[in-house]
Amino acid sequence: MKRLFTLLASLVMTMALVGSFSSNVYASQQLPNNSNQKVVILTFDDGYKSQYSNAKPTLDKYGFKATFYIVCNYVGNGDNRMTWEEIKSLRQEGHDIASHTMNHDDLSKLPPQTVEYEVAQSKQCLFDQGINPKSFAYPFNGGSDDPTVLNIVASHYDLARTATGPLTFLSCGDDSECTTNKYSIMGWSHDSEKKNNAYNDQQMLDRFVQVVNSQNEYNTNGVNAVPILIWHKIDNTNEEYSTSMDLFEAEMKYLYDNGFTVLTMADLVYDEGSTYLKISDGNDNVPIPATERDFAAKINDVDEDSIPDNARSKEEAESGISTEEF
Ligand SMILES: [Zn+2]
Repeated sequence: MKRLFTLLASLVMTMALVGSFSSNVYASQQLPNNSNQKVVILTFDDGYKSQYSNAKPTLDKYGFKATFYIVCNYVGNGDNRMTWEEIKSLRQEGHDIASHTMNHDDLSKLPPQTVEYEVAQSKQCLFDQGINPKSFAYPFNGGSDDPTVLNIVASHYDLARTATGPLTFLSCGDDSECTTNKYSIMGWSHDSEKKNNAYNDQQMLDRFVQVVNSQNEYNTNGVNAVPILIWHKIDNTNEEYSTSMDLFEAEMKYLYDNGFTVLTMADLVYDEGSTYLKISDGNDNVPIPATERDFAAKINDVDEDSIPDNARSKEEAESGISTEEF
């Protein structure tokens, strides 16, 4: 009897250990005293075919996962957009599939009922393919500072990304100028930066290295600032909003060689109880322990008074960082 009990106890212990390992993939990034934590989130907008045919092999090579923001009515549209089969295979391989509206219109220029359609129907459209999108991205950044649009987005999604600066701050600390909002999370448009500055590939790689390391000064005591990067086409057409395959490979190699932890938007979670944004530890219904609060984010809920003033993005715009999204 005692032996049976011991056997059962060890079985329960083993199951608990397996459970805790599998659900704490990012626990090491959450140690507040673990410095030199470099984190980056990769996102791809607009469902271009070249993201599947040219970016995915490079992502696979380095074992990176990304978020793909899909415009529903672009899917399978002509030769240069992904098909549902391709999108679903990305999902099956562990990539994050998220919503970028039905038609890629600027939400700030649409009447509320049309905004509701673009926001809600694009979620339903992904649902119909067996995909549950956690986040949303604003086409052209439109509406991410408009209370009506924000409230509609807030009623359908956990988080939303705009493109107003390279760093999303998870914790503002004592900086009263720093505000953020879970429905206007900042992303950095790699491609408008390249276009606006007419960078060649080497100049763009140098700028990329600068941007991904801009988190360092904020992350000396755990992860507090995360660069969220946005690409569109990965091909050698040299068109606007295209990144050459060699440059993309060099950028991913840099992240790999320098020990960056690559995350997706689905790895960001918001804790309603504490109103903090944090990097998921796979255990997201559990209240955040006090020890994690130094690096967890204090995010304002959406209301008329807390629409972000984007204080940091203004600074960054002045310092020449592009805010435009395609
Ligand atoms: Zn877009």
